[in-house]
Amino acid sequence: MSFEKFKLDAKIMACVQALGYRVPTPIQLESIPPIMEGRDVMGLAQTGTGKTAAFVLPILQRLMQGPRGHIRALIIAPTRELSEQTHKAIGQLGRRAQIHSASIYGGVNINGQITRLRDKVDIVSACPGRLLDHIHRKTIDLSHVEVLVIDEADHMFDMGFLPDVRKIVKHLPAQRQTLLFSATMPEDIRSLANDLLTNPVNIKIGHTAPVETVSHKFYPVQMSSKTDLLKDILDKTEMDSVLVFTRTKSRAKSVALQLDKSGYKVTSLHGNLTQQKRQQSLDGFRDGRYEIMVATDIAARGIDVNKISHVINYDMPSTTDAYTHRIGRTGRATKTGDAFTFVTGDDLGLAHSLERVLGEKLEYQSVDGLTMSMPVYDNAPSHRNNRGNGGNQNNGRKLFSPKSKMNSRPKQRSFDSSNRSQWAH
Ligand code: AMP
Repeated sequence: MSFEKFKLDAKIMACVQALGYRVPTPIQLESIPPIMEGRDVMGLAQTGTGKTAAFVLPILQRLMQGPRGHIRALIIAPTRELSEQTHKAIGQLGRRAQIHSASIYGGVNINGQITRLRDKVDIVSACPGRLLDHIHRKTIDLSHVEVLVIDEADHMFDMGFLPDVRKIVKHLPAQRQTLLFSATMPEDIRSLANDLLTNPVNIKIGHTAPVETVSHKFYPVQMSSKTDLLKDILDKTEMDSVLVFTRTKSRAKSVALQLDKSGYKVTSLHGNLTQQKRQQSLDGFRDGRYEIMVATDIAARGIDVNKISHVINYDMPSTTDAYTHRIGRTGRATKTGDAFTFVTGDDLGLAHSLERVLGEKLEYQSVDGLTMSMPVYDNAPSHRNNRGNGGNQNNGRKLFSPKSKMNSRPKQRSFDSSNRSQWAH
C-alpha cells in the first residue's frame, strides 16, 4: 500500500517522498480517506504512530483549493513542543504547496506572534492558553476556520485545558470539520467529542494496556545529566538487551554516538537512516552484536525482539499510551522486564498522568550526583533511595558494562519477523 492511493496533489506527494515516507502508517491508512471526504474523525492513537501526517496531509490537500492567507485550519495541542512539532511537520509537508503555518504558545513574548499572525497564515498550531489570549486581544481571526484538530486530547484533559478548548470552539464557525485525537478516552473527552463531532468515524490504533509484569522506575534528572545517568545505569545494572528511547532522531543519533565512544556495543534506529542502515541496526541488535539500541518511537515499531530485558526512556514519551507501547517492548516473552524513565521538570504533568494509569505512586530513584530531588511534584510520592540500580546490586550476575565481550553473553535474543513493521522509519 503506497501513498499514491490517496491521490494527494503532486506537490504534497513530492514532500512525502522527500521525507522518506514509503508506506502509510496504520493510522494514516485509516484516517486520511475519511478526512479527505470531509468527515469528522475521532482517533484513538498515540504519538509516534504517524498521527500528525494523518491529519496534516488531508488538511494540506484541502487548503490547496480555495483562498490562501486566511487561517483555514486550527490545531490545538497541549504543549508548546507538540505545537512546534506540528508546525514543523506542516512546514515539511506543505513546503512545495506554499501553505504557511504559525505556532502559537505561551511562555514567549506575544508580540512576535501578533506580527506573524498579521502575515499570510493558512494553518495555526496553538496551545489553548495563548490562543485564548490572542482571541481576547483580537489579534487572531478564526472566522475562516474550516478544520479544527484537537490533538492529544487526553493530555489536554490532564493539564486542565478542556474548559479552554470549549471556550475556543465558541469562536469558530459552526460549519467545520472537527478531528479529535487522544491516546485514551476518559469520560470528559468522550463528552467533549460528543459535543463537538458530528457522526464521526472512529479509528482506534495500537491501543494497549500497561504490561503488569514490567517494573517501573523513575529517575528525576536534569537534561544535562541524562547521558551520565544512562551510563551509570548501564554499568551498574544487570541487563541483557536494552532499548533506549529518545524523542527525536537527532538525539537518538547523538546518544548512540556518545555510548559508542564510551565503548558500549550500541546501535541506533531512527528516521534519518537509510533502509539498509536500519536493517543492519536491527539485525545487529537481534543477533547480539549490539546490546543497546537507541531508537525513536516510530523507528522502534520495526523492532520485534522478544527478549529485551530493559527499556530506558531517556526522554519521557509524550503520552501515557506511548509509555505503555514503549514498555510493552520488554516483558514480552520472558514475562518480566524493567522500564526506567528519566523525568525532567518539564515532564511532571505526564508523570502525574502515568501515576493514574499505573494505579500507583511512581517509584522515584536517586543516584548520587546524578538525580535531582523531587520537590516540585504535587502529590509527590515518597522518595525512595537506591531501589534498583542506584546501588551495585548485581546479585552475582554479570553487569552490563562497556566493552563487554559479545560472545560471552548468553544468546537470548529472538526475533519475530512475522510482525515486522512495513513502514518502520
Ligand atoms: P507522529 O506520530 O506524528 O509524532 O510521527 C512520528 C514520526 O513518524 C515523525 O518523525 C514522522 O516524520 C514519522 N512518520 C510519519 N509518517 C510516516 C510514514 N508513513 N513513514 C515513516 N515515517 C513516518
